[in-house]
Amino acid sequence: MTPAPAAGADRTIIIGAGQAGLQVAVELRQAGYAGAVTLVGDEAAQPYHRPPLSKAYLTSEKSLDALQMRGQAFYSEQAITFLPGLAATGIDRAARQVILADGTVLPYDHLVLATGAAARPLSCPGHDLDGVMTLRSLDDATALKARLATARHLVVVGGGFIGLEAAASARKLGVAVSVLEMQDRLMARAVGPDVSQHFAAVHRDHGVDLRLGQGIAEVLGDSPGEARRAIAVRTTAGDTIPADLVLAGIGVTPNTALALSTGLPISNGIVVDEAQRTGDSHIHALGDVCAFPAPHGAGLIRLESVQNAVDQAKVVAAGIIGRPARYQSVPWFWSDQYDLKLQMVGLSQGHDAVIERGSRDENRFSVFYMKAGRLIAIDSINRPADHMRGRKLLAHGAAPVGADEIDTLFAARRD
Ligand code: FAD
Ligand code: ADP
Repeated sequence: MTPAPAAGADRTIIIGAGQAGLQVAVELRQAGYAGAVTLVGDEAAQPYHRPPLSKAYLTSEKSLDALQMRGQAFYSEQAITFLPGLAATGIDRAARQVILADGTVLPYDHLVLATGAAARPLSCPGHDLDGVMTLRSLDDATALKARLATARHLVVVGGGFIGLEAAASARKLGVAVSVLEMQDRLMARAVGPDVSQHFAAVHRDHGVDLRLGQGIAEVLGDSPGEARRAIAVRTTAGDTIPADLVLAGIGVTPNTALALSTGLPISNGIVVDEAQRTGDSHIHALGDVCAFPAPHGAGLIRLESVQNAVDQAKVVAAGIIGRPARYQSVPWFWSDQYDLKLQMVGLSQGHDAVIERGSRDENRFSVFYMKAGRLIAIDSINRPADHMRGRKLLAHGAAPVGADEIDTLFAARRD
């Protein structure tokens, strides 16, 4: 049990009660921080895991209770003041105060911005029809799940992780699915072309009508009126596809408005240094909302993953307790679609050679990405041992592993 903070103690306010925000509170207490910790979240729910929202929660294989990150008692036991359903609407940096939507003013010594990202909505004609949805929050997922129970034809716009996971879940539920992806391959932001190709084949095998190189031109509604419902979409190729449900999975935008309003530097995210510090020494930012220095001086990057949020939280907590650390974790990510567990480690952009091991026919293979003769990233499908090994080898950046060593170092050698 953490004792209640003493009067006059250090005060930390965390804005955003998602993966990153809650983890900062957890790390602070684990590190013995004795100051006051206040977690402000604009969602009504207690902090919950987002990854199942497009996967097991949508298919009802996971319940609402299983999504909770911590039990009810956790917050009082750890002396964390959790303020749900309340948005932070302003920051007065000179006075070191946060202003909440209900007018409350909270003074801080340390402020943490963990406001995450918002799903990009469609902007084409018909984007506001009933039946056109996005998927980011628990409320979004609950609404989508209810619609899927009666939907006949779902059109997913965007062949990234969210869109494809939702497509796989909908197929499991027996709903007809079309996916429109404007690029010529799936998940192009994160995986290499071989992995994209494999996933395209698997989605088609599961009956998905996959249309690459096509975007959405318009959502068509039923008869004009106030509560018009989506009935079809028209694609940029001029095709019309029936659709009583349309899901936009076209990426996210970082929630930077609050930081921008108080004059913090923004560049596709709140700009932070390697210690997660913003331009203001009292303010840290982390998770989906921050743009941080890429390893090896390759500019700023913004990542959207649980790993990134959790590992950056350790760095933020270390900074607040006065033992500044540097964020140097190797990025990793996963996605579940049908019986494929895709795990990625490292960043494959800029690779100049690939090595593939395993069996595509058996849905068990890994793609090793090389740059200048060194291993920089691995995408594994149903080969968790390769992924885990890769996380160790890539922990400090590109691994001094040449093509001839792949077979001896990885599980692929057993094939
Ligand atoms: P969030 O979790 O989005 O939390 C930010 C919180 O801040 C939100 O609750 C938001 O409402 C709140 N907020 C924003 N502005 C304010 C304000 N002004 N005042 C108060 N509160 C505010 N990652 C993986 O690694 N693997 C996966 O398989 C995976 N699957 C995913 C599936 C789905 C459907 C989604 C949506 C995401 C998935 N992710 C996955 C990504 C992962 O969930 C995010 O990277 C992670 O949640 C980022 O944490 P965060 O705390 O930065 O942002
Ligand atoms: P997420 O990980 O949230 O699913 P990504 O950015 O990885 O997000 O994927 C979004 C996908 O949506 C990208 O592959 C992008 O090419 C695609 N996309 C974006 N806008 C459109 C559009 N209007 N029509 C079809 N696909 C789109």
